[in-house]
Amino acid sequence: MAERFEVAVVGAGPAGLAAALTLARAGVEVIIFERGEHPGSKNIMGGVLYRHPTEAVVPEFYHQAPLERPVVEQRLWLLTAEAALTLGYKDQVFAGEPYNAFTVLRARFDRWLAEQAVAAGAVLINETVIEDLLWKEDRVIGVRAGREGGDVRAGVVILAEGANSLLTQKAGLKRDGISTNQLAVAVKEIIALPREKIEDRFNLEEGQGCTIELLGEATKGMMGTAFIYTNKDSLSVGVGVLLSSLVRRRLNPNDLLEHLKSHPMVRPLLAGGESKEYQGHLIPEGGYQAVPQLYGNGVLVTGDAAMLVNGIHREGANLALTSGLLAAQTILAAREKGDYSAANLAPYRQALEESFVLKDLRKYQRAPFFFDQNPHFFTLYPELLSRAAREFLTVDNVPKREKQNRILREVTAARSRFQIARDLYSFWRVMG
Ligand SMILES: Cc1cc2nc3c(=O)[nH]c(=O)nc-3n(C[C@H](O)[C@H](O)[C@H](O)COP(=O)(O)OP(=O)(O)OC[C@H]3O[C@@H](n4cnc5c(N)ncnc54)[C@H](O)[C@@H]3O)c2cc1C
Repeated sequence: MAERFEVAVVGAGPAGLAAALTLARAGVEVIIFERGEHPGSKNIMGGVLYRHPTEAVVPEFYHQAPLERPVVEQRLWLLTAEAALTLGYKDQVFAGEPYNAFTVLRARFDRWLAEQAVAAGAVLINETVIEDLLWKEDRVIGVRAGREGGDVRAGVVILAEGANSLLTQKAGLKRDGISTNQLAVAVKEIIALPREKIEDRFNLEEGQGCTIELLGEATKGMMGTAFIYTNKDSLSVGVGVLLSSLVRRRLNPNDLLEHLKSHPMVRPLLAGGESKEYQGHLIPEGGYQAVPQLYGNGVLVTGDAAMLVNGIHREGANLALTSGLLAAQTILAAREKGDYSAANLAPYRQALEESFVLKDLRKYQRAPFFFDQNPHFFTLYPELLSRAAREFLTVDNVPKREKQNRILREVTAARSRFQIARDLYSFWRVMG
């Protein structure tokens, strides 16, 4: 193996692979280091993969990639202990080309994406942990792998190491340590079920898929969401909540997942399924304010390592792919100038600011803190909405006007009109 490459990429997730593939196609010598046995072996995601940003990296990937089901329906369930208030959108347009989104299993998808990068000329080294960066004065000049003779020099290093981001900290781009209100903990189980059963239970045509996001009781009222996604012959079931909420409530994520699985609205969907895999992972959810310095002399940071996750829309892989692509394009432009100094890598931040990636994070920048500080959005409001629906839909000879008044009385006893108006206004300011 050559000891010097033009570009070294740490991490073979969507961010690192999008960067490596783009660079390799442009004829750049690029090496990718992955600590797992193969790309995807350590990676988890719900996982919904969005077509548009993926196509920017591999056009018409849906003809060859190992995908589970095209998502034709998205449902949102607001859970209380016994009930679910539901909202959904189903569209047959999403069932065919060019599609909108797919469910995927990362162990298969990442491996396939890595094969595309290798076919384009990238060198992939698995089972290798990069432990440190090599420096010359204030410039990163390569990486140090955790094994004999493991130094590899590079003109520029792309950090795509995911949520733990230890090298990003070592590069001085991010502060050390974990901030519990900037990280969510997620656990996920893959539950095998025959495909016909999945289609029956979720009311799907053959081969089509749907997603359910669950709020409220699904997370015991904590800031976060739970999910159920349909794969070909399994379901991905998981829950993710802000670490600070978990610590405050002294709960552990596994209990939350069991709580979700035993909910009367969820249990019938999973009945008879066989648990195949159980995984846990961190999700960086600090939002725009937590995005670190994105470049330095000879180094760029992408994807989860750069906190590029939109927790409100449960998007992460698309931000990772896009940041990997933009990092590669920045490097190609800097290469023309023959220098990977911070000044020549600075357009990377600009490109992210101009893309949906930082525009969306900026839009929701106050949301994580707001919902963490106002848990009644996940507890009281679902409960009140559910009680209102129960009252209104119970046919018991009570005139509808009286029912309306009863509901109003119950709601305003729990939260005054002034508080409700303030909540609506704040909600609009944070989310609008
Ligand atoms: C439960 C869960 C559900 C999710 N659901 C969705 C979803 O439905 N849709 C969506 O878009 N996003 C989702 N996300 C977020 C999404 O998974 C991430 O945003 C995305 O994977 C980030 O990609 P990445 O390439 O930056 O990092 P990762 O995918 O984490 O990849 C980082 C890679 O770097 C490797 N690595 C780390 N350190 C080193 C090192 N020192 N040396 C060598 N290799 C190293 C790791 O093994 C890994 O392969 C979900 C996340 C979780 C946890």
